[in-house]
Amino acid sequence: MDRCRWTPGPRLGTLLVMLLLTVLAPMGLAQPPEDQEAIQIGTGSHDGVYFPAGNAICRLLLRGFTEHGLRCQVLSTGGSVVNLGMLRNGELDAAIVQSDWQYHAYQGTPPFEDQPPFEHLRTLFALHDEPFTVLARTDSGIDTLADLPGKRVNIGNPGSGQRATMEVLMEALGWGLGDFVGLNELPAGEQAQALCDDEVDAIVFTVGHPNASILESSTLCEVRLIPVEGPAVDSLVASHPYYFEAEIPGGLYRGNPDPVPSFGVIGMFSTTTALPEEEAYEVVKAVFEEFDGLRYAHPALGRLTPQTMVSTEFAVPLHPGAEKYYREKRLLR
Ligand code: GLU
Repeated sequence: MDRCRWTPGPRLGTLLVMLLLTVLAPMGLAQPPEDQEAIQIGTGSHDGVYFPAGNAICRLLLRGFTEHGLRCQVLSTGGSVVNLGMLRNGELDAAIVQSDWQYHAYQGTPPFEDQPPFEHLRTLFALHDEPFTVLARTDSGIDTLADLPGKRVNIGNPGSGQRATMEVLMEALGWGLGDFVGLNELPAGEQAQALCDDEVDAIVFTVGHPNASILESSTLCEVRLIPVEGPAVDSLVASHPYYFEAEIPGGLYRGNPDPVPSFGVIGMFSTTTALPEEEAYEVVKAVFEEFDGLRYAHPALGRLTPQTMVSTEFAVPLHPGAEKYYREKRLLR
């Protein structure tokens, strides 16, 4: 036995815990409700906007911990479709998801047709616009959408929002997976590097701007944003309630001074009816009472206003706890 090694005995351990409790008690941290599970918030890749947005929401909620006792945890995930599956099976309590896939999950329409409509899905608030983004190497010979067939295109990991939206666009354009060279399914977090390493000619991302992924590729190599336009895009926008004409502002990324047209969706902060009313109320209260804490958390969130984030007209209804807060604050009348 090593007699020189000193280990704290149970008495010292107890003393340390008591000391900690004494120090923490005035801060109100000593008695977290034991049965209180942290609210699990699903986001996307570290390079997107969902992840920093989810972190900002969680941080704002935690500021009021001493009053409401609610904790939260932010998970980086594969994106919208994955998040909707995890919300449905209870692995997540809240998540940011694209408005197109939120709509289809709620309706039980493809790609969710093998499951009953997700009727318990609810909206907490709308976040930023997400233009469908195509970024190509300048040496790839890709200038327009029509140049993508025959090229190495990263269509995104299955379960991501951009992969699912890319499949919609491909169908509208009459393209299949065989029209691209190889099957490139890298997650969003890996595609900027792959583009600059010349492993692919173009990448797609449904995402708020600016974001770390497009910043990374445009800083490290020569790339350009490709306009997503034409009759097929026009008819997608005209025939679906959740698509709208969108624009990626000019001057956000090196070598891309002009605005680029596309179509877009909205990042919807979503939950289910399983989230208790008081908890949904506290989550939205935390965000709207310290609104700058959200707006300044990421440049893609800088244009948000409380008025555009709240509506009774969303395709997926508001959670009653959120609606209660919005009515009290007259954000809804
Ligand atoms: N819209 C993307 C998706 O649903 C995620 C974008 C982001 O991470 O900001 O997969």
